[in-house]
Amino acid sequence: MNDDADAYGEAAREAVELGNRLADDDTEADLWDIADGLLAGAIQYWLYAHQPCGDPLCEDCEPMSTAEARLAEMLRLAKEFAADSEYFHSPNDSNVGRA
Ligand SMILES: [Zn+2]
Repeated sequence: MNDDADAYGEAAREAVELGNRLADDDTEADLWDIADGLLAGAIQYWLYAHQPCGDPLCEDCEPMSTAEARLAEMLRLAKEFAADSEYFHSPNDSNVGRA
Protein backbone atom coordinates (compact mmCIF):
# COMPACT_ATOMS: atom_id res chain seq x y z
CA MET A 1 0.00 0.00 0.00
CA ASN A 2 1.36 3.43 -0.87
CA ASP A 3 1.45 6.51 1.36
CA ASP A 4 -1.60 8.06 -0.34
CA ALA A 5 -3.73 5.01 0.42
CA ASP A 6 -2.34 4.89 3.98
CA ALA A 7 -3.21 8.55 4.61
CA TYR A 8 -6.68 8.13 3.05
CA GLY A 9 -7.49 5.01 5.07
CA GLU A 10 -6.13 6.40 8.32
CA ALA A 11 -8.08 9.66 7.95
CA ALA A 12 -11.32 7.78 7.24
CA ARG A 13 -10.75 5.37 10.12
CA GLU A 14 -9.89 8.11 12.60
CA ALA A 15 -12.96 10.16 11.62
CA VAL A 16 -15.17 7.18 12.46
CA GLU A 17 -13.26 6.57 15.70
CA LEU A 18 -13.66 10.24 16.64
CA GLY A 19 -17.42 9.95 16.16
CA ASN A 20 -17.52 6.81 18.32
CA ARG A 21 -15.41 8.50 21.02
CA LEU A 22 -17.62 11.61 21.09
CA ALA A 23 -20.71 9.40 21.40
CA ASP A 24 -19.09 7.37 24.20
CA ASP A 25 -17.99 10.53 26.06
CA ASP A 26 -21.47 12.08 25.92
CA THR A 27 -24.11 9.39 26.00
CA GLU A 28 -26.82 12.10 25.92
CA ALA A 29 -25.55 13.43 22.59
CA ASP A 30 -27.62 12.84 19.48
CA LEU A 31 -25.67 10.70 17.00
CA TRP A 32 -27.13 12.78 14.14
CA ASP A 33 -25.63 15.93 15.71
CA ILE A 34 -22.22 14.26 16.09
CA ALA A 35 -22.38 13.04 12.50
CA ASP A 36 -23.44 16.46 11.17
CA GLY A 37 -20.57 18.09 13.07
CA LEU A 38 -18.08 15.56 11.69
CA LEU A 39 -19.38 16.23 8.19
CA ALA A 40 -19.13 20.01 8.66
CA GLY A 41 -15.55 19.64 9.86
CA ALA A 42 -14.67 17.26 7.03
CA ILE A 43 -16.06 19.70 4.44
CA GLN A 44 -14.15 22.57 6.03
CA TYR A 45 -10.90 20.57 5.89
CA TRP A 46 -11.55 19.36 2.33
CA LEU A 47 -12.17 22.90 1.05
CA TYR A 48 -9.08 24.16 2.90
CA ALA A 49 -6.94 21.41 1.38
CA HIS A 50 -8.25 21.84 -2.17
CA GLN A 51 -7.56 25.55 -2.59
CA PRO A 52 -5.88 26.25 -5.92
CA CYS A 53 -2.19 27.16 -5.66
CA GLY A 54 -2.52 30.65 -7.14
CA ASP A 55 -0.82 30.03 -10.50
CA PRO A 56 -3.61 30.77 -13.04
CA LEU A 57 -1.95 28.42 -15.56
CA CYS A 58 -1.46 25.49 -13.15
CA GLU A 59 -2.81 22.35 -14.85
CA ASP A 60 -3.04 20.39 -11.58
CA CYS A 61 -5.37 22.98 -10.04
CA GLU A 62 -7.41 23.67 -13.19
CA PRO A 63 -10.19 21.15 -12.31
CA MET A 64 -10.50 22.83 -8.87
CA SER A 65 -10.08 26.43 -9.99
CA THR A 66 -13.53 27.74 -8.99
CA ALA A 67 -15.79 27.32 -5.95
CA GLU A 68 -18.42 25.67 -8.18
CA ALA A 69 -15.87 23.20 -9.59
CA ARG A 70 -14.67 22.29 -6.10
CA LEU A 71 -18.25 21.80 -4.88
CA ALA A 72 -19.04 19.59 -7.88
CA GLU A 73 -15.98 17.44 -7.18
CA MET A 74 -16.81 17.23 -3.47
CA LEU A 75 -20.39 16.14 -4.23
CA ARG A 76 -19.12 13.57 -6.73
CA LEU A 77 -16.87 12.11 -4.05
CA ALA A 78 -19.67 12.24 -1.45
CA LYS A 79 -21.95 10.22 -3.75
CA GLU A 80 -19.18 7.72 -4.43
CA PHE A 81 -18.35 7.27 -0.72
CA ALA A 82 -22.05 6.94 0.17
CA ALA A 83 -22.66 4.32 -2.50
CA ASP A 84 -19.61 2.37 -1.27
CA SER A 85 -20.73 2.47 2.37
CA GLU A 86 -22.10 -0.66 4.01
CA TYR A 87 -24.70 1.65 5.61
CA PHE A 88 -25.95 3.20 2.35
CA HIS A 89 -28.96 0.89 2.33
CA SER A 90 -30.74 0.19 5.60
CA PRO A 91 -33.12 -2.68 6.31
CA ASN A 92 -35.38 0.02 7.83
CA ASP A 93 -35.57 2.06 4.63
CA SER A 94 -39.18 2.96 3.81
CA ASN A 95 -38.83 1.58 0.31
CA VAL A 96 -37.71 -1.89 1.48
CA GLY A 97 -40.33 -4.52 0.80
CA ARG A 98 -41.46 -6.55 3.80
CA ALA A 99 -42.50 -10.16 3.30
ZN1 LIG B 1 -1.73 24.52 -8.76
